[in-house]
Amino acid sequence: MNATEQEQKVAVVTGGSRGIGKACVEALAKEGYDIVLTYAANQEAADQTVEIVKRLGRQAKAIKADAADPDAAQQVIDDAVATFGRIDALVNNAGITRDGLLIRQKQDDWRQVLDTNLSGAYYLTQAAAKVMMKQRQGSIINMSSISGVYGNAGQTNYAASKAGLIGLTKACAKELASRNITVNAVAPGFIATDMTDGLNAEAIKERIPLGRLGNPDDIANTVVFLIKSGSYITGQVFQVDGGLVI
Ligand code: NAP
Repeated sequence: MNATEQEQKVAVVTGGSRGIGKACVEALAKEGYDIVLTYAANQEAADQTVEIVKRLGRQAKAIKADAADPDAAQQVIDDAVATFGRIDALVNNAGITRDGLLIRQKQDDWRQVLDTNLSGAYYLTQAAAKVMMKQRQGSIINMSSISGVYGNAGQTNYAASKAGLIGLTKACAKELASRNITVNAVAPGFIATDMTDGLNAEAIKERIPLGRLGNPDDIANTVVFLIKSGSYITGQVFQVDGGLVI
């Protein structure tokens, strides 16, 4: 590997077109990463995020790839390697909610949330780990939620998927550590994005000691810290929730 290759850093961010994923893309581009971002449907948002990265002087590629599709996951990783030659960081951020009380919840909503939020991270991690193991270097971040740590009424499917991500994080951390790959989870509280748009922000703020909803940059800063400075941190869950759960 020559010096130029070593200096190039590449990150794959799922669900990088909007919200927290977009903030991660921007923050990583500012740190010198070239980016592959995935999205589900909103091509306009994805193209805008790619433009932001280019304005920051880095390269970016947006790929429409359903997180729940294992073949698409492999294609994303193959495409990232074909385009940029390596993968230093993977941020498994794509996620959805289909909230509803347990007894009324449709089984389809259970499956869709588990397939997207949990299986999606598994597929991408499996494909990316092979690349990172050859490099003997890599950092994987799974976007969990405080709902996965503490549970939340009306979110049995979502909480299960986010708790599953924590188990995935810890097992992968143990399995991949010998190849110098770190795996950590970030568990955001309430962050102001499209996902939380319909919630009563004033009522939520009253429950948060820091007195505000988080913004996507609050999460992106944690992700960048772990990827850039977390070489001796693995298998951990970082709650970023303004003190919501202490
Ligand atoms: P968001 O604003 O709704 O954005 C979701 C992103 O994921 C979009 O880029 C979307 O792509 C993409 N996406 C959705 N379904 C996908 C699929 N099947 N395949 C690929 N990409 C898909 O959500 P957010 O608030 O930024 O949340 C990001 C992550 O943080 C999620 O995992 C969420 O569970 C977690 N989280 C959020 C909060 C919060 O308060 N916001 C709290 C805890 C955890 P399109 O643009 O194409 O739709």
